[in-house]
Amino acid sequence: MTYLFGPVPSRRLGRSLGVDLIPRKACPYDCIYCEVGPTTRKTLTRLDYQAGAIIAELTAYLKSGGQELDFITLAGSGEPTLNLGLARIIQAIKELTDTPVAVLTNGALLHLAEVRRDLAGADVILPSLDAAIEETWRAINRPLPEQSLAQLLEGLAALRREYRGRIWLEVMVLKGLNDTEQELSALKRVIRPLAPDQVQLNTAVRPGVKKSAQPLDPGEMQAVAAFFGAGAAVIASSPRPANAETAVSDARFIAMLARRPMTATDVAQVLGLPLDLVQRRLERLCEAGLIDRSLYQEQAFYRRQNNK
Ligand code: SF4
Repeated sequence: MTYLFGPVPSRRLGRSLGVDLIPRKACPYDCIYCEVGPTTRKTLTRLDYQAGAIIAELTAYLKSGGQELDFITLAGSGEPTLNLGLARIIQAIKELTDTPVAVLTNGALLHLAEVRRDLAGADVILPSLDAAIEETWRAINRPLPEQSLAQLLEGLAALRREYRGRIWLEVMVLKGLNDTEQELSALKRVIRPLAPDQVQLNTAVRPGVKKSAQPLDPGEMQAVAAFFGAGAAVIASSPRPANAETAVSDARFIAMLARRPMTATDVAQVLGLPLDLVQRRLERLCEAGLIDRSLYQEQAFYRRQNNK
């Protein structure tokens, strides 16, 4: 599969079929916590990124019966709203299935009316807001110079006014960066009028682009959730396992690890395979030089390197 990945167990979306709307890696941001890797094309320009081919792959998958899904999630290796075919793709999914559509977005283009119109058919939009103080926002998300926090907030407010679906706002909380009382108070103040249906608190549980993106521990995250109050929750870290699958090729392991770094437990859950079998296979792929293993927060993460 070129554009589809999973179904993967998502912390927020259950069993989710991912759709990669953007080639690696076009994005208006270059977040220090990004799991995809450094942004190679920092851009605000929307283009038609293969919408026809994406719809064809989705159609073939869904018509083949696929697997039971909780969500089809438009996301991937960059910012999905950069794809001019976004509305067309959502419309095509709606014609194919009743499975709800979620869109992960950094929100950088939400100030544009046409982007909000393109998103109107989605069932859930999950935008991000990581800081309410400009300097911190720039340090974490590393946007283009012409972007501003005010514009992001304006886009989020306009989305809330116009959009009829659910908005789950994600805040990535990072140790020593946006976890101080001043930062969290500022965030709480700006989020209240944006009235998201949920505030989802995340932290850097996987290795990102910069070592400065460090996670809070579970107790600290619960304290942040309590500070935000009702409507805020730490995103659960134990996804639902997929169905068992007996024969999985090396290529499938490698393709999955090209998307994001994963622990052996993550891989076992996605593939529905016993953990010891997955561990043995991952070690074999490491020895063959097909994937890399690195330690992060005392956990082993596996990923395929871009040059492999
Ligand atoms: S985390 Fe999302 S918004 Fe940030 S650089 Fe990666 S793809 Fe772009």
